[in-house]
Amino acid sequence: MFAPRLLPRLATSSVRSPLASTSSSLLASRRGFASSRTALASSLLYLEHREGELNAASLVALTAAKKIGGDIHAIVAGDEGVKEVADKASKCEGLSKVFTTSSPSYRGLLSEPLAPVIKALAEKGSYTHIFAGHTAAGRDIFPRLAALLDSSQVSDIIAVESEDTFQRPIYAGNAIATVKSNDKIKVITVRGTAFDKASEEGGSASVEEVGSDAAETPTKFIEDKLSKSDRPDLATASRVVSGGRAIKSAENFVKYIEPLADSMKAAVGASRAAVDAGYADNALQVGQTGKIIAPELYVAVGISGAIQHLAGMKDSKTIVAINKDADAPIFQVADVGLVADLYEAVPELIEKLK
Ligand SMILES: Cc1cc2nc3c(=O)[nH]c(=O)nc-3n(C[C@H](O)[C@H](O)[C@H](O)COP(=O)(O)OP(=O)(O)OC[C@H]3O[C@@H](n4cnc5c(N)ncnc54)[C@H](O)[C@@H]3O)c2cc1C
Repeated sequence: MFAPRLLPRLATSSVRSPLASTSSSLLASRRGFASSRTALASSLLYLEHREGELNAASLVALTAAKKIGGDIHAIVAGDEGVKEVADKASKCEGLSKVFTTSSPSYRGLLSEPLAPVIKALAEKGSYTHIFAGHTAAGRDIFPRLAALLDSSQVSDIIAVESEDTFQRPIYAGNAIATVKSNDKIKVITVRGTAFDKASEEGGSASVEEVGSDAAETPTKFIEDKLSKSDRPDLATASRVVSGGRAIKSAENFVKYIEPLADSMKAAVGASRAAVDAGYADNALQVGQTGKIIAPELYVAVGISGAIQHLAGMKDSKTIVAINKDADAPIFQVADVGLVADLYEAVPELIEKLK
């Protein structure tokens, strides 16, 4: 349990387990709720974007915001192309207003210039809730925003129970905490796999420009180094093939995991052991300290199924595991398990998928 001394405005009313509990939370969250106070609520959504596209996790956060009820406004900030993104955002179902603000200092999604501008807008609009996706940017900007607003952030929520009570996983997803926030402005990040994405059609929000007034910061954005790949994006792919320590080398990762992924038009993922050993790029790590995903199909190859790995993929619709150890914990969550040596099973599988 959280110590009330450390988090004065948060009260965890209950903690429950276990791994399987998420689905019931999701059902509860999809049901929504009704409250006599909902009419007073209004939410501000921090809408992330890249290369003109709206971020999927932000659209998931919009669905969570809709469960609160009341007006939902969004802020789109950036250095260029903000107007085009705002026009796209204005069509999102559930938004009634989109604010835009642009400044060169908003490039790179740095928290130092962005948190103050969201804070100013939040106070001006007297919003009761501020939402963002639990992305790298959300995790960076929102704690600073919460501190500026003197609020205790409610992070990584998976369900909205009422306008002040939320569910979030703790202990790498082994327990679900029900968290009540008494803050005037609730600062919330939303797990990208916990709700459906809001539709990008059907809305007709107004667009309004607000001043940038970017604060001076000691942090400067230098450059973005994006790894280009023709494969689907790991965070949003409907199929993922991941390799673990058993792959033994970066060459084997290319020889076994990548062709299997390509034969299934899947994204590539990896366990932390594979990443730490240099077999796969850090951006491919799935798990508690990597990406949290919920594809239709997740294929774990030579991965034992440590709880930290499960925390990133256990909500996948169908889990397939290939492991030579019949007692590997991954088989406890797998829908389909193959006890076999991957060096024989994977080439055979690729051949059959051709
Ligand atoms: C704070 C913290 C955060 C962490 N975050 C993450 C995270 O985000 N993601 C993550 O993945 N881990 C994370 N970990 C690490 C995690 O605890 C495990 O160490 C890691 O997931 C193990 O990776 P693995 O399954 O690839 O390796 P192992 O546990 O070594 O498993 C390898 C598996 O391959 C099987 N195998 C071996 N040879 C073959 C073969 N020829 N054919 C078929 N199967 C074979 C073995 O039976 C074994 O089950 C974290 C740990 C900590 C402490």
